Amino acid sequence: MSNSPIATPKADILVIDDTPENLALLSQILKDKGYKVRSVTKPSTGLRGAQAAPPDLILLDVKMPEMDGYEVCKRLKADQRTHDIPIIFISALGELLDKVTAFEVGGVDYITKPFQVEEVLARLETHLTICNLQKQLQAQNKQLQQEIVERTAAEEKFGIIFRSSPNPIAIATLTEGRFLDINPCFSKLTGYSQTEVIGRTITELNPSLTPEIYDSAVQYLLENGSLHNKEYEIYTKEGQPRVVLVSTELIELAGVQCTLSIINDITERKRMEDEFISLVSHELRTPMNSIIGALDLLGTQKLGTLTELGQQTINIATNNMERLIRLVNDILDLERIKSGKIAMRYVECQADKLLIEATQAMQAMADSAQVNLSVEPTPVQIHADPDRILQTLTNLLSNAIKFSEPGETVSLRSSLNCEYLQIEVQDRGRGIPQDKLQLIFERFQQVDASDSRAKGGTGLGLPICRTIVEQHNGRIWVESSLGEGSTFYVRLPVDEGLGTGD
Ligand code: ADP
Repeated sequence: MSNSPIATPKADILVIDDTPENLALLSQILKDKGYKVRSVTKPSTGLRGAQAAPPDLILLDVKMPEMDGYEVCKRLKADQRTHDIPIIFISALGELLDKVTAFEVGGVDYITKPFQVEEVLARLETHLTICNLQKQLQAQNKQLQQEIVERTAAEEKFGIIFRSSPNPIAIATLTEGRFLDINPCFSKLTGYSQTEVIGRTITELNPSLTPEIYDSAVQYLLENGSLHNKEYEIYTKEGQPRVVLVSTELIELAGVQCTLSIINDITERKRMEDEFISLVSHELRTPMNSIIGALDLLGTQKLGTLTELGQQTINIATNNMERLIRLVNDILDLERIKSGKIAMRYVECQADKLLIEATQAMQAMADSAQVNLSVEPTPVQIHADPDRILQTLTNLLSNAIKFSEPGETVSLRSSLNCEYLQIEVQDRGRGIPQDKLQLIFERFQQVDASDSRAKGGTGLGLPICRTIVEQHNGRIWVESSLGEGSTFYVRLPVDEGLGTGD
């Protein structure tokens, strides 16, 4: 008996040989090497054993009385359960081995008696390795086939959605904005065919989307990963203007960063909005002003003495009317600035003076709310519309004061870097939840639905600020911690050649 330690069986070998001495010898060689060996002298028993528990490899004697090795091999290969098992023939030296038949019936190799131990083991291991590799390849192949099937199904699904989407969709490279694919609805909206669009850049196709606008969208996408419902004006091939809302996600295609944009044509909705706005301005403002005049007159008691309750009722009505007028004015303001009906009047102005002016304008409101105002301006000259920048700053200060507690301080600061002026309005008030930080810059969005009533707002202040800042090619955003306060940032570009003033 061998002294070598018994290892876990390496592989399961079936030896079919009618000579018991051969069997015993082979079995011992293999067992010594750690293989699990089953040995049988009768071919029919071997066949049954292989079918019942398929081994990893079969060593098969060629010459046997009951059924020769070729026949056994044929039967094993014909059976699905044993078809893939490698079979090595054993023949005695001098015995005529029909090698052609051996390979034809499916044998992979042969060894001759008397056995050369090293040779037997080397051949056996080679075929076990080949067989294992084949099995691995088959498994990987199966997995790949499965992945291909799944991927093809997913691509097909995406293709159907892409082609039949009722919304225009475009895929473009991120850095250049070069179109890679568009869907039929995109062609319908723009009037450009697929071949006219693919390969061209967004700015080439739509000169109204200047490289600056595109670059700022790219910047936003890189910082936030996606962009939702951003309004743009584009032109069709025939030169018709269309107002669109674009939502974009960053995607990767073959290792290239790309954009997937879904477009919503809101031209008709905008036209109706404009109509509604002019209706509001003509039909609502005049009677509202006359109502407030009438309420004022009643309040003076010149038309008759009012009871205390009567006076209180007039005060409530006046407050509500004023809020309504503010709302209508804000709606009109926002729409007019957005549509360019109120043009920006850009002049060179001293930003520090605007900061001081804004604080002075809000001092009375701060005093009545018992909030301290502090201002730290940086002297710098900017190219801007001073009235609109002032409107932005007073809006931000008014919010900061509204959401501060008595005794707290609201600070207005500015700092300069070579490209932009950064203005900060900081409060130590209740703060804004993270999920609302972007939303509050949209129309009528408030953190708390009761804010408009409790704080007298309209939900239009920040959208107006954003529109003004964006018209100045600037950026506005907010950072906030609940319970600790908020800081609104306004970044305005500083023109080259313009520097610090006195
Ligand atoms: P409003 O007229 O309601 O103030 P805004 O557009 O200016 O409209 O602001 C929208 C909402 O954003 C406010 O109603 C409030 O919920 C929130 N908000 C704005 N500024 C602040 C701030 N400094 N602190 C806390 N919440 C704020």
